[in-house]
Amino acid sequence: HAKAQGRNTVRMYDESMTRDSAVRLRMENDLHQALDRKELRVMYQPQFDVATGRLVGAEALVRWRRPLHGMVSPADFIPMAEDTGLVVAIGDWVLRESCAQARAWEERTGMALRVAVNLSPRQLETDHLVEHIAQALEANRLAPSRLELEITESAIVRDTLSTASVLSRLRALGISIAIDDFGVGYSSMSYLRELPVDKFKIDRAFLEAVPASESDSRLAAALIAMAHTLQVGLVAEGVETREQLEFLRQHGCHEAQGYYLGRPMGPEEFEALILGQHPEAGIAR
Ligand code: C2E
Ligand code: MG
Ligand code: MG
Ligand code: MG
Repeated sequence: HAKAQGRNTVRMYDESMTRDSAVRLRMENDLHQALDRKELRVMYQPQFDVATGRLVGAEALVRWRRPLHGMVSPADFIPMAEDTGLVVAIGDWVLRESCAQARAWEERTGMALRVAVNLSPRQLETDHLVEHIAQALEANRLAPSRLELEITESAIVRDTLSTASVLSRLRALGISIAIDDFGVGYSSMSYLRELPVDKFKIDRAFLEAVPASESDSRLAAALIAMAHTLQVGLVAEGVETREQLEFLRQHGCHEAQGYYLGRPMGPEEFEALILGQHPEAGIAR
């Protein structure tokens, strides 16, 4: 009896495996066409200077409006895009779209903000990446200082030497480099501090229990202090409460983003936000 049950379990497992791979395959096929079918969108989440409260830029976050499935989160399709290599074309589209948008905001509002674009490990390995990015800036007449590239720790660990050289060349152009999801990877501090980067973005996991948990608050404060010591910029992500923002202000964290400050939004809504921040906004209207 036990044996029959065991066999039964195995068969059900096989069926669900088949179902999963069929689901995966359909998603992969759809994703292949998503760009051509114009199903991708970029949303922009505002980033603020903590000390002054000023809007400093936006992080570009891709969305996929998949037919019959609704809005798909990048957390659900970027890993697949990464596996299949599609992330190179998608990432390139996001980069160009974001540069064009930053330029359009500048022309329409007179404010020169920065746009931060996520770069996947796979993109970092592509040939002529630096020239390619320089060209995207040029095509949109966007100054390199207005572009920030976010790279996860794992991307950097993959191939230390050539990655460091690519990052140096990007920085030499004037582009800033941020290490995304900092603190959840495996890199050692001694290693990260050697890298040619401008700032770290602490993963939102570090803020979740701040200030309620004393030990988590101490850890977050230590990370901020470390950024000061190393003289690198620090961005906190996942700021969801006024108390968290106050904590960051007290400890001197440079920049912040999160639902408390603003959710990812479409370009028109972001433009309204820029205009609301404009020093002469009150005079103009
Ligand atoms: P990420 O780069 O760490 O982006 C931050 C994520 O946290 C975003 O999720 C954002 O919507 C979310 N978030 C922001 N504020 C809060 C908050 O206060 N609370 C909570 N709970 N979440 C917050 P999203 O847009 O779903 O993106 C997920 C991940 O997908 C990103 O994480 C990034 O790694 C990746 N991704 C997004 N767009 C792109 C892209 O164009 N290229 C690549 N390679 N990856 C991308
Ligand atoms: Mg990011
Ligand atoms: Mg992040
Ligand atoms: Mg994160």
